[in-house]
Amino acid sequence: MRWYRANGRHDLPWRLTRDPYAVLVSEVMLQQTQVDRVKPYFVDWMERWPDAASLADAEPAEVIRAWAGLGYNRRALNLHRAAVKVTDRFEGRVPTDEDTLKTLPGIGPYTAAAVHCFAGERRTPVLDTNTGRVIARARLGAADMRTAGDRRTREAASELLPSRGARDWNLALMDLGAMVCTARKPACDRCPLRNGCAWLLAGSPVAEGAGAAAVRFEETARFARGRIVDALRERDAMETLEIADLLPGAHAANVDTYLGGLERDGLIERLPGTERSWRLPGKATGR
Ligand code: SF4
Repeated sequence: MRWYRANGRHDLPWRLTRDPYAVLVSEVMLQQTQVDRVKPYFVDWMERWPDAASLADAEPAEVIRAWAGLGYNRRALNLHRAAVKVTDRFEGRVPTDEDTLKTLPGIGPYTAAAVHCFAGERRTPVLDTNTGRVIARARLGAADMRTAGDRRTREAASELLPSRGARDWNLALMDLGAMVCTARKPACDRCPLRNGCAWLLAGSPVAEGAGAAAVRFEETARFARGRIVDALRERDAMETLEIADLLPGAHAANVDTYLGGLERDGLIERLPGTERSWRLPGKATGR
């Protein structure tokens, strides 16, 4: 905690508030996007949609456009759907109770725990890849949470949680994981836990599955889906063939699959009265 007080990222805009809506927005943005990238998006978002009711009132297409550059567009749509549900069921107030949070679209155990702890200041472990890695290494002697096992890591996180100050505790683990105990190159020489770190004492064993061949991002369905949504952000509508032309050749055979998946997820819709013309969703999809 001494290390955190001196080195923690205390001035991140979402750490300066206890507003559950703001914390929820930041946590959804941070799910798969780097902190520095999220900062300006978060500030703009809160100016544009300062509460759940204003976000619920926006068109899904507008929300998906505002998400451009953050990736994993489904998060934008889920955030919008969550805002609609919060407005309809909870009078616009984002709940801070973990179980209630998990009933909202796109809110899994991690995000529910984060809002519960960071906005509600309640005592619960907040286990993401960063906090999980620190606990897996320092306490369990494994290279990461996957190698240590989710259940073991969760149990260790619960055991370690102090009876008071859980918010700062979780934030400290998060910062240590992001700034010192990083996935590829942990800076053990400047880590406050180095003297008792179980992973160092065990000789730094490698992670399970390390060395598996990596797939190039451009070859993934996620790349193709993102490219399609990006193109539709710029246009009112596009034909299937135009969309196919945008994608590298290897994806051509899968265009219908990608479009069908995006349609099922609610990220795109057919232009009314057409079969093969697509656009971002209008209001009817969100409410
Ligand atoms: S000593 Fe190294 S491996 Fe252990 S917690 Fe610190 S940075 Fe991570």
